[in-house]
Amino acid sequence: MRTTIQRFVAIILFILFAGLYSLFSHYFFLQREETSSIILDTMNDDLSELSYILSKTVTSHTNIRSTRAMLDRVVSNNHFIDAIMIVRGDDVLLSNNPQYKTVPPRHEFYISEDESAYNVLKRGIGLEGVVRYYVSDELYLLDLIFIFDQDEIDMRLTQDQTYFMVSFGVIPLLLIAIVAYLFRNYISRPLEKLRQFAYYQSVAPSAFNLKELEAIRSSMLQTFNRLEAEKNELYRMARTDELSGLANRNALNEYLNRLIAESLRNRNEFAIMFLDLDNFKLINDALGHHIGDELLQEIAVAIKEIVRSNDFVSRIGGDEFLIIVNHYSSLQELLHVIDRIQTHLSLPRIIQNHPVNVTSSVGIAFYPKDGSDTVSLMQHADIAMYEAKKKGRSQYHFYTEELNEQVLKAVNIDKAMRAALIDEEFELYYQPKVDLQNGAIVGAEALIRWNSKNDGMIFPDEFIPVAEDNGFIVALGRWIFETACKQQAKWKRKGINIPVSVNLATRQLLEKNFAEVLSNIVKETRADPKKIDLEITEYVLFENTDQNLLTIKSLREKGFSVSLDDFGTGYSSLSYLKQFPIDSLKIDKSFLNDFDKENGAAFIETIINLGKTLDIAVVAEGVETEEQIEYLKSSRCHYYQGYYCSRPVPAGKFENLYHSLNLAVLDTSTKRKSSRKKSSSGSIR
Ligand code: C2E
Ligand code: CA
Ligand code: CA
Repeated sequence: MRTTIQRFVAIILFILFAGLYSLFSHYFFLQREETSSIILDTMNDDLSELSYILSKTVTSHTNIRSTRAMLDRVVSNNHFIDAIMIVRGDDVLLSNNPQYKTVPPRHEFYISEDESAYNVLKRGIGLEGVVRYYVSDELYLLDLIFIFDQDEIDMRLTQDQTYFMVSFGVIPLLLIAIVAYLFRNYISRPLEKLRQFAYYQSVAPSAFNLKELEAIRSSMLQTFNRLEAEKNELYRMARTDELSGLANRNALNEYLNRLIAESLRNRNEFAIMFLDLDNFKLINDALGHHIGDELLQEIAVAIKEIVRSNDFVSRIGGDEFLIIVNHYSSLQELLHVIDRIQTHLSLPRIIQNHPVNVTSSVGIAFYPKDGSDTVSLMQHADIAMYEAKKKGRSQYHFYTEELNEQVLKAVNIDKAMRAALIDEEFELYYQPKVDLQNGAIVGAEALIRWNSKNDGMIFPDEFIPVAEDNGFIVALGRWIFETACKQQAKWKRKGINIPVSVNLATRQLLEKNFAEVLSNIVKETRADPKKIDLEITEYVLFENTDQNLLTIKSLREKGFSVSLDDFGTGYSSLSYLKQFPIDSLKIDKSFLNDFDKENGAAFIETIINLGKTLDIAVVAEGVETEEQIEYLKSSRCHYYQGYYCSRPVPAGKFENLYHSLNLAVLDTSTKRKSSRKKSSSGSIR
């Protein structure tokens, strides 16, 4: 059974009180009986003494009265005797108290021998003795009666009772009160304080007097202090980035929420800057994580040093930092901060004896202009940062609504694209590659089209960059490649045995075992790898050079040919042409547009000559006019693609085109042959 200490102590005090009470009342009764028997004894003594003296004194019936003085003396000596009577039968011979003139009823004297002295005194009215005397040798008996003085006896006994009440009633109560008081002050209250302290960890109670309680109090204090310290440490750890010592994402969210609330009240604006290192992955991969880690630490310190102490710096991912600049007087000042950070970060540094160069991209969004909540502010700064990245290294970019629209559009396209692949809304169109010398179709470039149920025909410029950005190009590219292979196999069966060119995105080449994957698809579709041409852009050659070189080499080993697309728009370094095994070059459309200007012509001619030297076929793209054709022919370019011959068309149309064009070519060549036959009369080859 559970009880409170108070109740427990109350019970103990009650038991104590009851125990003491019964002990004392026992003692009281004992005491009363003792007093009673002393009183009774004195009276008995007086009775027997008087009866003896009277027996001696009384000698005749008549001299009884002369003993009155004796009776008086006894009564005055013993307060408990009210009267003494000498009685014979029912006659009162002598009474020293005139109140008693008759003999009291005899039975009131006959108190049983077993009765207690107290009962004898309280219930009886007196004592009875005998006086014997002889008159001429004849024995006479008289009764000697002592009447109790009840008032005197009561007084004496009540006196005892009062004394008892005082000593045995009040004192225990007093003691109990003292015990209760001490208990309350020394045990009950301290315990209650301890309980409160344990519950609410409010103010620690001051030291207690009882050693045991004090030990509990101080150990509780110690434990709470330790727990508090541990809690603080956990709290700190939960919001600190361990590596850099900067605030982490949790702390950032908390700070940003607070700052937004504050800024809303005070109508302040602030800037949130998303900083991402440009080539951190390369450094990490090339030099190892320990160097990457140290670099991050150095950068954390550098940023902290540049911004003001009340600006907020946090690391929220591998090489991503978020900086909140709270007070700036002008945009110039903010730009100055960004510039200082970017310049400082891009300084060459030596980490563990390795020279390390790193640059950073920064995206900036403002509260409240660009977002009024944590998520949108961070998202928008992130979007701006991506835009900065697109501009190249060490750039910054401010968030704009247009940027956001682009991103939202990309998100929508992404969703729709994934569904479109399942719903088979994609289709490959084919654009002929034409031999400039005879106008025959010698190849087909597969170009993707999206027949959207909702938006009609969508051109690749709208969705391919999005797919490249988010990686969907890998899945889509596989479908494109497979479809192109199937087409190639089908055409081959139909006698159109021309190579089909497929565009590859940079991202696809990074796929593991890419050559293997393509080779398997070719086998499954029964296409001829020698009739599959892969178009890559210059960027492929520039990024991840070693890996890409290996991939391209193994692709060629599998039998594929490789073309360099959009040549001239990228880095146009001629040196890599020697390194990379390329089968053909495609001159970008923009140069064809400028063929009649000096620059354009010079470029086209250089490429054509280069192709000749390196034994690489050259294809001109975007050829639309007769003049362009004439120019290319005169420059001895091999092939062209362009609206001049045909726009990209569905496979069926392409077949028709192929047949009509190549038949015409066949015709003219046979005509030419027959006319030659005529002129050279009979020489048959
Ligand atoms: P690209 O590989 O340079 O493709 C040539 C683009 O030029 C095609 O646009 C084609 O329709 C267009 N074109 C051809 N001749 C002429 C002409 O005489 N005048 C003009 N003004 N344009 C001409 P398209 O089909 O819209 O493709 C655009 C780009 O989208 C392609 O550029 C390519 O980079 C990408 N793309 C298209 N299909 C695929 C694909 O299946 N996979 C990948 N990865 N990218 C693709
Ligand atoms: Ca192409
Ligand atoms: Ca191209």
